[in-house]
Amino acid sequence: MSKFCLQCDDGTKLKLQTKDVTVEARGESCVVPKVTGWHCPVCGDIEYTDNDSADRVWKAIEAMGEKAKARDAALLAYA
Ligand SMILES: [Zn+2]
Repeated sequence: MSKFCLQCDDGTKLKLQTKDVTVEARGESCVVPKVTGWHCPVCGDIEYTDNDSADRVWKAIEAMGEKAKARDAALLAYA
């Protein structure tokens, strides 16, 4: 069974694997360990196969959002 990336135009094949993923949001980045799903080797898009992996990535993105908010607030305080 193979799946193709919806983000890439040229029919890039997704790979079913478990790996550490670096996620970026709002200028922050962090690594979410052992994310299981169909990974695109080109654009890094992930099609999740279990809720736990999706959940952990979302939590990481949310946490970065909070961090960015705190960072912006700190910058404003200095302005
Ligand atoms: Zn892709």
